[in-house]
Amino acid sequence: MPSGQRYWTVLDEDRLAPVPAADEFLRHVRFGRDQAESTTRTYAGAVALYLTWCGCTGRDWTTAAGRLGSFMFWLRYSPGDGTPVVAGPGSEPVRGPRRINTVLAGVREFLAHATTLGTVPAFVLSQLYEVADDRDLPMQARGEGSGLRYYAKARHRAAEPDEPVGRASDEDVLALLRVCRSARDRFIVLLLARAGLRRSEAVGLRREDIHFVLDASVLGCRIPGSHLHVVRRDNDNGAWAKSKRSRAVPVDFLLVQAYDQYVVERDACREARKSDFVLVNLFRAPLGAPMPPGALNDLFSRLSRRAGLADGVHPHALRHGFASNAADAGAVLDEIADLLGHANASSSEVYLHPDPQRLRSAVERVGALAPRRNG
Ligand SMILES: [Zn+2]
Repeated sequence: MPSGQRYWTVLDEDRLAPVPAADEFLRHVRFGRDQAESTTRTYAGAVALYLTWCGCTGRDWTTAAGRLGSFMFWLRYSPGDGTPVVAGPGSEPVRGPRRINTVLAGVREFLAHATTLGTVPAFVLSQLYEVADDRDLPMQARGEGSGLRYYAKARHRAAEPDEPVGRASDEDVLALLRVCRSARDRFIVLLLARAGLRRSEAVGLRREDIHFVLDASVLGCRIPGSHLHVVRRDNDNGAWAKSKRSRAVPVDFLLVQAYDQYVVERDACREARKSDFVLVNLFRAPLGAPMPPGALNDLFSRLSRRAGLADGVHPHALRHGFASNAADAGAVLDEIADLLGHANASSSEVYLHPDPQRLRSAVERVGALAPRRNG
């Protein structure tokens, strides 16, 4: 776009021109709803697959929603490049349930948006969603007051295996730190483990966000002590802070020290000195370019392998570890929500994996109480 903002769209295979309905939807997602560029990329991929399936099977895209069940089958076995699906016993799926659900979510958004414009008939909504009551929802998710609440529930969903993100233990973090081969990588590990940043927040950090000084008032900031700011921006590297509001995260000496060491390493690279981004390429081309979010996953796979951690430590597990450590140290839920940048404390609950020792001592504290007698 002339403004410099970018979004993804879907091109017609024959004419290589944007498909109008898809393009309208993706612009709406990017500019009307202020979603990230990466979201339009996911949605564009989903819509392209849906339109390809409609094309292959001769269906009208505006009314094909009634057959999403066969679309799911197609997604499971077709690469989506027009080759016919040959699936039989023992066929290898090309997409897993998680990927299929991501595609379905994008298609639902696309079709639901089209019904609001009138391009797609309204009955399609009832093919996408069913009305469910809240009896099968967890207590926290139900509305207040008595009586059942109703909500729209997606009709089509592939069963996903449950893979909760675990909590990285302090031992895991130490093992990762030991096998780091640069000050930058040590700083990244500590940034996630000691400040609980999301992967995208870490790669989106700018140098001006780092207030590692005792008194930041000269920088125009009144927050006391060393801290960093997580600011929502649209970044070149496809990353942005997920939270709508910015937050300041207090940091400890370990992180400040790791940053000092990283700055020395970073300044030795001429291309890096010109960049505003904190985390930049120092060891591969293009030198000095901001690290893309995926580079952090690669880094953690590499470090896990080197450290002999068989299950691999996912970057997000460090954020879980950070929240759990804060809880183990006595922080209450709304403090943890603030540290993680959650608007709602209930979002933080899934991040808490209490230390078994803390559970034991809670039980022992109860046991130590003297029996209460009347009189
Ligand atoms: Zn500040």
